[in-house]
Amino acid sequence: MEFLNHLNISSNNAGVSTGTQWINSNGETIDSFSPVDGKKIGSVTAADRPSYDAAIAKAQEAFAEWRTWPAPKRGEIVRQVGDALRANKEPLGKLVSYEMGKSLQEGYGEVQEMIDICDFATGLSRQLYGLTMHSERPAHRMYEQWHPLGVVGIISAFNFPVAVWAWNSALSWVCGNVTVWKPSEKTPLCGIAVQTIIAGVFEKNNVPEGVNVLVQGGREVGEWISHDTRIPLVSATGSTRMGKALSAVVAARLGRSILELGGNNAIIISKNADLDMALIGSVFGAVGTAGQRCTTTRRLIIHEDVYDAFKAKLVKAYGQLRIGNPLDVNYHVGPLIDTDAVNMYLQSIEACKQQGGNFIVDGGVMSGDGYESGCYVKPCIAEANNDLPIVQHETFAPILYLMKYKTIDEAIALQNGVPQGLSSSIMTLNMREAEQFLSHTGSDCGIANVNIGTSGAEIGGAFGGEKETGGGRESGSDAWKAYMRRQTNTINWSDKLPLAQGIKFDL
Ligand code: NAD
Repeated sequence: MEFLNHLNISSNNAGVSTGTQWINSNGETIDSFSPVDGKKIGSVTAADRPSYDAAIAKAQEAFAEWRTWPAPKRGEIVRQVGDALRANKEPLGKLVSYEMGKSLQEGYGEVQEMIDICDFATGLSRQLYGLTMHSERPAHRMYEQWHPLGVVGIISAFNFPVAVWAWNSALSWVCGNVTVWKPSEKTPLCGIAVQTIIAGVFEKNNVPEGVNVLVQGGREVGEWISHDTRIPLVSATGSTRMGKALSAVVAARLGRSILELGGNNAIIISKNADLDMALIGSVFGAVGTAGQRCTTTRRLIIHEDVYDAFKAKLVKAYGQLRIGNPLDVNYHVGPLIDTDAVNMYLQSIEACKQQGGNFIVDGGVMSGDGYESGCYVKPCIAEANNDLPIVQHETFAPILYLMKYKTIDEAIALQNGVPQGLSSSIMTLNMREAEQFLSHTGSDCGIANVNIGTSGAEIGGAFGGEKETGGGRESGSDAWKAYMRRQTNTINWSDKLPLAQGIKFDL
């Protein structure tokens, strides 16, 4: 496959790199199989402890130099990384699609997100502003400034195999930090490709070796990062189970973490909605990326007056979905990541039935020509109460639950009535309902939309969610502040030393 050659991916790849150099290791071999056709794409040698330690030591060394580069100069490197990604958008997008299984359009979209955050971070490199305050003491000046933290760990999930790294690294670098990235063990080749693309920019600009360290591996390597006191901040994206384990370890050493965990996102469909628009938002939200986005629509909360009509529209739309090779634009729905995910999908359908859910569009595994990988499943829909254990849980697959409501208060209570708090939306043309949903008595999620589905987000806003989603924020707005330490400075330019709060201390 031409895109693999273009990205310098071979059948066996080293899995530890400090930027332009690769470090040998004796870690386990991770084989990467494509969920698209079940074929092995290539292998990666995971980090072992000595190669990991050597790479982190290099990152620490790099930090000592990198933090002395003026922020706009670091921004210039990020700008060039954005250009290198532009030049490689096609092969990298194809690799994302082939290794992860999302549609080619979404693969390109993911690379576009990387480019967008590089543009954002380049501008940000001249805007790392602090505030000034008026001192209570005469002839004193107070202000705050933001300093880099050091080595930032990035642990990413399989479903956004490259964009999550870009959100974290672009901001980290302009803030003066260096990054250590452990990609998901399910998408290791995406990590190799990204490291290869940025190496050219780093080499050309003499960026210190260690500014972006790559350490491949599974959970164990992630645990090395969470325990590592050389890493003051760990940004972790993945399941709530992972986040609970990781954050306890990081907190025990009083480190910081940014957590981007699971969602259980709902759309409220009011009787005042534009139902055609609601249909597109709901179907794309539920079946896009085969239900494997953290912002995937998992629940539809529908007003009783339009419930039957909307249900009929949904069933018709699901009947038109084409399931198949995500690299072929004629298909709407690609595969799940692997057969473990397929088993989890089947178990969740069973659990839903046992708990009282009623399927109006049946699920199942696709078989036959084009489905040899065993990872293609049918998006399905069940009518189910919000309080069923399976509905309260994030199943990372295209299973959509429908429920009815009478009043907007009831709809908001249902929307908020799950442990997760990532993305939410209301479809309505009624201003009162929309404003109530957005108010402090409305959605409890990190993202709340009106007349847009739950799925996807722009890089300009701060991205993340509440409750079991972990509370972290990444990407736009002032999310950069989490990657820096704040310092308050008071300067006395008088010839006296007055103490704060009027305290007298004479010698
Ligand atoms: P996962 O939790 O299985 O793995 C995520 C990453 O964490 C992997 O790199 C894995 O090796 C590592 N890991 C696992 N256990 C660890 C531990 N104890 N310590 C340190 N590292 C550990 O998740 P996944 O299956 O790759 O991804 C799907 C999940 O990610 C879903 O729950 C989805 O909602 C979530 N997700 C959230 C966001 C968000 O922004 N909120 C974005 C993408 C994915």
